[in-house]
Amino acid sequence: MFSSPFLPLPAGLKIATTSMHDDLLVVQVVSTKAGSCCPLCFCPATRCHSHYARVVADLPCAGFRVQLILHVRRFFCDHTDCIRKIFTERLPAFVLPWARLTVRLCEALQSVGEASCGELGTRLAERLAIQTSPTTILRRIMVLPTAAVERVSELGIDDFSFRRGRKFGTILVDMQSHQTIDLLPDRKKETAAAWMKAHPEITLVSRDRGGDYASAAASGAPQAIQCADRFHVLKNLGEALEGLLARHLAAQRKRLTAKLSARPLETAQPRQSPKLSPKAAELQQAKREERLAQYQHVVTLQKLGFSQTTIAEQVGIGHATVSRWLAHDAFPEQQSRPRKIGLDSHLPFLRERWEAGCHNIAQLYRELVARGYTQSYASVYEQLVRLLPEGKKNASRGCDLSPSPLSSRQAMFLFLRRSEDLETDEQETLITLRHLHPEIDLAYDLVEQFAQMLRTCTGEQLDAWLERVRASQIRELQGFVVSIERDKAAVVAGLTLPHNNDYVA
Ligand SMILES: [Zn+2]
Repeated sequence: MFSSPFLPLPAGLKIATTSMHDDLLVVQVVSTKAGSCCPLCFCPATRCHSHYARVVADLPCAGFRVQLILHVRRFFCDHTDCIRKIFTERLPAFVLPWARLTVRLCEALQSVGEASCGELGTRLAERLAIQTSPTTILRRIMVLPTAAVERVSELGIDDFSFRRGRKFGTILVDMQSHQTIDLLPDRKKETAAAWMKAHPEITLVSRDRGGDYASAAASGAPQAIQCADRFHVLKNLGEALEGLLARHLAAQRKRLTAKLSARPLETAQPRQSPKLSPKAAELQQAKREERLAQYQHVVTLQKLGFSQTTIAEQVGIGHATVSRWLAHDAFPEQQSRPRKIGLDSHLPFLRERWEAGCHNIAQLYRELVARGYTQSYASVYEQLVRLLPEGKKNASRGCDLSPSPLSSRQAMFLFLRRSEDLETDEQETLITLRHLHPEIDLAYDLVEQFAQMLRTCTGEQLDAWLERVRASQIRELQGFVVSIERDKAAVVAGLTLPHNNDYVA
């Protein structure tokens, strides 16, 4: 038995043997201590009950992973008053009871985790010959005690989700050091207000647009200035803009479709959702119009005999969507509940059967139903007509088609990004968009002016900007103006004060 300077062990532990298995160094370690202290009554015990082996991972040695097989004992506690009769030998400074890593390996993982994060830490650890996983690294970090929050003068507050879209908490950030200082288990105003009450030194609270955190700051830190963080202000502007763009893009697409086909298509009645706010309902309606216009464009191109691939390119949507839409007899409304099993998943089967020589549509329909297909015979029929070799592909060569258009969301992001960051083709698209309608052109100027205020921290220009938006009479932006007026002091503060909630954006 020996000790090694390459693998130092605490007193009372000796190396018995070592062996190599590829990149793994397996070290048999025995305890040479006469006894151990009972974990309950702390009395020394020497009467051995039995021996057993524990396998623990240790720090790597010269690039090799190290596995220790610890040969330790169970002892009897002979103290008459102690209820513990048998306990396992303790090696407190070296490895904790039931742990599968030595204390020093845990500490190394904590350091790796603190310097990086779960994923990155795993890659770094691998280079250091430490086998681990992102979860293990995060667990090691989670058990570290958090430093007590001492003083915070500028507080950023927002919600975050523990489980995406299900369980929310509140994140508190020191706006000066950009450090997360606390996490609250929910996003209730009472919880946040109680936290702020314990910090009377807070002078500024940066939060989202009104709502619970605004009331929390009003009651928990009435002395503090409230400011609306830029991320949420810009997000609200983006939503208003998206509604405007959706309306105009839908109108444009309708004009295009009308040009391609003299015959107007029947349109389904819009689906109303009673739970939505008027603003959300308007956005939903505008997006539906946009989708409907896309659908009509698809159907028109299909009637003109274009292939699904060409249609997908022209309309600017995915091939699968084109295929799905064409499998319906009417405009497919967006479903909030799970979609019925459509034809898409059966297409490879259908194609295979067709190519194998089965051209009996009724027969194929029966086979599809047996496979779980729940929709109409007509959809199958339409799909199969397209498989016919003498299909109407390219029937209308030479027909004038416009370049692939954008969705309102893509267009919105083009408006919000700095123009100098746009690629040449994006700049061209932006110019085309602005030429589409004077309202869009005006909206672009207004958005640019707002972004400029934000970048240069010139919130004092907000009133003049709001006046220009009112004068523009752009419907979608009026709602944004109203929401700003409701929370104006905080928005002005948010536009004026530097570094507010940069951590979010
Ligand atoms: Zn005891």
